[in-house]
Amino acid sequence: MGERNPYEGAINNLRKVSDIIQLDKHIVEILERPQNIIEFSMPVKMDSGDVKIFQGYRVQHNDARGPYKGGIRFHPQVNLNEVKALAFWMSLKSSLVDIPYGGAKGGITVDPKALSHDELEKLARGYVRAVKDNIGPDRDIPAPDVNTNAQTMAYMMDEYSHLSGKYEPASFTGKPVGAGGMPDRESATGQGGAYVIEDFIKSLPKKQKEYTVAIQGFGNVGQFFAEIIHYMGAPFKIVAVSDSRTTVFCGNGLDIPFLISHKKDTGGVAGYDKCEAMGSDEILALNVDILVPAALEGAITSQNAAAVKAKIILELANGPVTTEADEILNNNGVVVLPDILANSGGVIVSYFEWIQGRTGDIWESENVQQKLQRKLVKALSEVSKTAEEYKVSLRDAAYILSISRIAEAIRLRGFNG
Ligand code: NAD
Repeated sequence: MGERNPYEGAINNLRKVSDIIQLDKHIVEILERPQNIIEFSMPVKMDSGDVKIFQGYRVQHNDARGPYKGGIRFHPQVNLNEVKALAFWMSLKSSLVDIPYGGAKGGITVDPKALSHDELEKLARGYVRAVKDNIGPDRDIPAPDVNTNAQTMAYMMDEYSHLSGKYEPASFTGKPVGAGGMPDRESATGQGGAYVIEDFIKSLPKKQKEYTVAIQGFGNVGQFFAEIIHYMGAPFKIVAVSDSRTTVFCGNGLDIPFLISHKKDTGGVAGYDKCEAMGSDEILALNVDILVPAALEGAITSQNAAAVKAKIILELANGPVTTEADEILNNNGVVVLPDILANSGGVIVSYFEWIQGRTGDIWESENVQQKLQRKLVKALSEVSKTAEEYKVSLRDAAYILSISRIAEAIRLRGFNG
């Protein structure tokens, strides 16, 4: 079931880990359901003069450790179960990297590629008007996710500031630097992934001279990760990249800066003629050392997990491996660096941006990078130690750490909420 419903998969993992740490059953019950679900429909006057109605969501999972935090996704497949799962993972992620937030997520069911820039701006502003009473710097702080970006956040922060009657830079994170944003926020998720894999490789008892890398998804996260790893150079060599239509494979290594400008010009990775092209799903079964899912959840399932040849998976997407697939990978000796650790760079730098917005202090890139790396290295080391202590996978260890911290906050604050 978890294969089709990511929320069920997430809750199955919660129950499994709760059994391992013998978590109070009331806390399990609290964490099994989101605290608030906001569902709304929203009319938008299109450029043609026609009015279209869009479905929107904001799910606030848990705020025991601080205000809710999580991105907003614009995608045709956005639905309540997906948003619930993503909100749950945000609670765990913030807790795992020890930042003072709970978890939330939002989205609009829309194909953003079919909308003009002006229509997308109206959609972004309409979203804020629909959830304005439920968000804010001390309540719930959204950020970008799939198909939303720094510009979307600038419109949203502007709308929220108008509605509040005052400048509210800490209401949204992931804004452009020119509108209260933080240097390196756009690249933060990819950069965080690079710090995690670099540190993980260093910790391996037997090191290879070279690690070949395949990256599924060439959007915000995938592109920044690819660029950072490309310039890092040895021991990493990116040999394959995919988007929703095509995989490009080049055994000698891809020219990533060229591929990024090719994608900018043409809208995809197809037509990059220096390499072999194949179907988009074929990237998952390539003979590489490190596979990096950076597209959407549910990419690796019970159907294709056995075909994965990589021995390390770095989950930059949220929930790219289903519960069933996770078990297959585990049995096959594949090490999965779990999403709530591997892609937490975005929310960590969002936290820095929120501090900047609340204090008026200006952060330099150097400071951001140093603090980001330190947080991730510490989290990876804690996860590795917990995995050894409990003899569990890195995912279960990450869940044990994050759920224990949320449980402690719930217990300390009391149950009569
Ligand atoms: P994005 O919209 O910028 O990029 C997504 C990319 O995935 C696009 O290039 C799209 O073509 C590609 N894609 C879609 N289906 C695919 C398929 N079947 N095969 C290959 N590629 C496919 O989104 P993003 O912000 O890069 O987010 C990607 C993932 O990372 C999501 O799971 C998101 O939740 C997660 N994430 C994002 C952030 C962030 O800061 N943006 C932070 C943490 C996690």
